[in-house]
Amino acid sequence: MANPSIYSLKEPVIETSNLVKIYKEGAIKAVDGLNLKIGKGEIYALIGANGSGKTTTISMLTGSLFPTSGEIRVLGLQVPKKRRIVAAAIGVAPQEYALYSDLTVEQNVWFFAKLYSMDRSSFLKRLDELLPILRLDERRKTAVYNLSGGMKRRVSIACALVHQPRIVFFDEATVGIDPVLRAFFWDYFRSLAEAGLTIVLTSHVMDEAERANRIGLMRAGKLIEYGTPEEIKQRHSASSIEQVFLKLSEGAVADE
Ligand code: ATP
Repeated sequence: MANPSIYSLKEPVIETSNLVKIYKEGAIKAVDGLNLKIGKGEIYALIGANGSGKTTTISMLTGSLFPTSGEIRVLGLQVPKKRRIVAAAIGVAPQEYALYSDLTVEQNVWFFAKLYSMDRSSFLKRLDELLPILRLDERRKTAVYNLSGGMKRRVSIACALVHQPRIVFFDEATVGIDPVLRAFFWDYFRSLAEAGLTIVLTSHVMDEAERANRIGLMRAGKLIEYGTPEEIKQRHSASSIEQVFLKLSEGAVADE
């Protein structure tokens, strides 16, 4: 799809070409010929109905899932071939179930820091910066099983950011986070992006997606619309991205 865009993409850090993922020996084409280009310092929201292929896409971009065909370049390197090098430069917010509930907030983040080969003193310095920003400083020594859902999401964000990655992937980053903290997070995400971090997120919350620099709307594994929120709304004469989402995702649930 050739969308004329007023958006000027800075140095691309994620590129895919004809990316395909087929599960179950051909039964499910979860990603179907995806061409993505995401630039440095961009906040890119991947949206789409349940089952449209967002998580599968992110898993392939991060090298945790192998594509059936197509090409992926992250920071100029081929994925999955160079995934180990790429892994050191990206952050992925783990799902809640990937946190160790018996361990404290600090111990969970330390676990991730060690995966990224951080030494203890750099880790502690970084944790001192991150926990107040994520409003978790008073929970530092609390076991994760004692935290609320929203607090666990914030621990996941700390795990993803601890090693100061160049790209961060948030699958449903702000689920369970209240609106006040959500607004605060967006300011924080923006400041990170201004400093050059690329943020790729998935969301079902459309007014949230609207805060991204660009949106990619997936349906049945394909990118059926993309551009800045303003461009997309204009193209569909819509007042909100939610309207566009409802229009373009119509029937998507029945298709599953
Ligand atoms: P949601 O918004 O519900 O998280 P999504 O857009 O992230 O959905 P995916 O999880 O990528 O969608 O799923 C895309 C399609 O692939 C769906 O039809 C799903 O059932 C299927 N699928 C996902 N993971 C697997 C798997 N491991 N094995 C088989 N099919 C899978």
